[in-house]
Amino acid sequence: MVTLTLSTVTFDHVKIVVLIRIILGVHQPMTNQFAVSPGAGILRPATQCPSPNQDDRLGGSEPNLVIIHGISLPPGEYGGTYIESLFTNSLDWSAHPYFGEIEGMQVSAHLLIRRDGEVIQFVPFQRRAWHAGESCFRGVSCCNDFSIGIELEGTDESPYEDAQYDCLMAVLAAIMAAYPAIELRRIAGHSDVSPGRKTDPGPAFDWLRLYDGIRLGNAQHNDE
Ligand SMILES: [Zn+2]
Repeated sequence: MVTLTLSTVTFDHVKIVVLIRIILGVHQPMTNQFAVSPGAGILRPATQCPSPNQDDRLGGSEPNLVIIHGISLPPGEYGGTYIESLFTNSLDWSAHPYFGEIEGMQVSAHLLIRRDGEVIQFVPFQRRAWHAGESCFRGVSCCNDFSIGIELEGTDESPYEDAQYDCLMAVLAAIMAAYPAIELRRIAGHSDVSPGRKTDPGPAFDWLRLYDGIRLGNAQHNDE
């Protein structure tokens, strides 16, 4: 049996902060959970599911913007493999009446974060994914050229899962470390870059939670 007394245990500042967050149930990103490989921009560990819907970034430029999306197929239904099928051009358009409305679409995103926090990568970050469509960020159009697209499985109106926020924060920490031009103010929603045309990730997405989580993660990282 091991007996510890408080006088024999020393905590540094970071450990105390982490302990308090655990006690209070504050969700925080695990900043060292993911990493982006140099070169192609593969996220590890993430399930790899290559999409044919990708091409080169103009001039080989690096991404400097992240666009957050929401998606579910059919809308409002979670689970299954319809999203992977859509992004790999293998969706059976007759499997659901809604699929007839999007028949023939060739789209993709760099990442999908499922309700349980599983991360699937369809396109390496150094390549262009086809997620934003007609779009503009601070006067610069064609956001696919310079952005990373992250889909969260969900709808505009229902809350996203804790596991998705935790995972998104951890993934963004890895992305921001790999591409320093992506700072907090360069993380936007699809509705921000395609106003009037797109509404995702919707009012259900908690932007303050995301921003505060990233700031907390950065502060903890700087303390270490
Ligand atoms: Zn979208």
